[in-house]
Amino acid sequence: MPLSEFTLIYRYFSALGRGPAVDLSVGDDCAILHLDAGERLATSVDTMVEGVHFPADSFPEDIGFRAVAVAASDLAAMGARPIAMTLALTLPAADELWLHAFSQGIAAAASEFRLPLVGGDTTRGPLTITVQVMGALPLDRALLRGGARPGDGLYVSGFLGDAAAALAVLAGDWRPAPAYQQYLLDRFNRPRARLELGMALLGSASAAIDISDGLLADAGHIAAASGVRLRIDPGLLPLSAALASHADPAQARRWALTGGDDYELCFCLPAGTAAPAGCTRIGWVERGSGVDCGLDLGGATGYQHF
Ligand code: ADP
Ligand code: MG
Repeated sequence: MPLSEFTLIYRYFSALGRGPAVDLSVGDDCAILHLDAGERLATSVDTMVEGVHFPADSFPEDIGFRAVAVAASDLAAMGARPIAMTLALTLPAADELWLHAFSQGIAAAASEFRLPLVGGDTTRGPLTITVQVMGALPLDRALLRGGARPGDGLYVSGFLGDAAAALAVLAGDWRPAPAYQQYLLDRFNRPRARLELGMALLGSASAAIDISDGLLADAGHIAAASGVRLRIDPGLLPLSAALASHADPAQARRWALTGGDDYELCFCLPAGTAAPAGCTRIGWVERGSGVDCGLDLGGATGYQHF
């Protein structure tokens, strides 16, 4: 018996909708959420297309987790407190094995990022996953791209370049030690949206963005929105032990500067502010425009769809 649209929704997606801000979840024409007095809604949507945003042979559990993490990362970049998400799913077929694993990945991310799944849409077509996230911000604060000032320090969270290196591993272009391979694939498949860090930066950071297209490309958005120049010292880029094990340090650095998909935060702090735990100072903000890392990368800055 083929699975009907509604059985599919109820079997795999209707049980993940409970959360403190959820008044009504999956099952009616709209979900109903509430904000506390003095809060604003922050919302963002991200689409993932098979073969563009993830390899066609990815595990369905990883596809589900990653789709949520990528969307949640935008809430982190704004400093928003996660409230809920919706999921628009286009599937080539109602394959129950696939759906089971995929919904496990969605559930793991919903729990890790505190984003109950309160609604969505389910259609047939080429595999496409769209996650819309909602978060809460105070009335008077948000992390924006446009607030960096000359004299600020430039920081990133975590390690950079791991996800790009993972794609090189998958393509057979690099064979690091087995433990490093596993670490790198995990970094690509299971991005850790930096929600706690984003909320912690709300009071102190002058600007922030999440790194989805590559450090140079995304830092460029801060530079443009703030009307400043960002200087990056490539010697300060935080590299994982896996990346540091690469025989060619220039390749590792290129991944860290131009590779996308890390979903770390890049942010600016006024001089004298201490770096939060797990974050690294990689440069500074000065008068001017653009991003300068002192290297010629042949025009490669980051991923663009068009
Ligand atoms: P409508 O036609 O009124 O938009 P649907 O028939 O598309 O409603 O969906 C029925 C219910 O199931 C709605 O509450 C919707 O939000 C929810 N829903 C549909 N698809 C999904 C999904 N992939 N994940 C979570 N909830 C879903
Ligand atoms: Mg519908």
